[in-house]
Amino acid sequence: MKDCIFCKIINKEIPADIVYEDGNVMAFKDVNPATPIHLLFIPKKHIPTLMDVDGENAHLMGDLHRAVAQVAREMELESGFRLVSNCNKDAGQIVFHVHYHLLAGRPLQWPPG
Ligand code: AMP
Repeated sequence: MKDCIFCKIINKEIPADIVYEDGNVMAFKDVNPATPIHLLFIPKKHIPTLMDVDGENAHLMGDLHRAVAQVAREMELESGFRLVSNCNKDAGQIVFHVHYHLLAGRPLQWPPG
């Protein structure tokens, strides 16, 4: 999608610190990390929010989870990590291209704010 910053990262129009890529998924470091390890996992297909997941694209969410598990194993995150996805205004979504935040590298508080 033309004006989507994550689509621009996928198309290599703007740089990102990419840690994983396959045919359907990309993962890169968050530019404003909230934790010592803060990665974003996105489908290469533009899906605006979690409310736009449907029978046509749901398989991509599975691909995201497979990539998360692979990267977590490679980064030896056995002590733990958190996977979160913000949907729409009340959750604080600012980039309207579905993504999971992988947060790790320190103990995390629960519940979040
Ligand atoms: P959300 O509030 O869930 O929409 O989070 C969007 C995330 O994208 C934020 O944590 C931003 O720091 C991150 N972000 C925005 N632009 C970029 C970028 N160009 N490269 C890496 N991360 C970005």
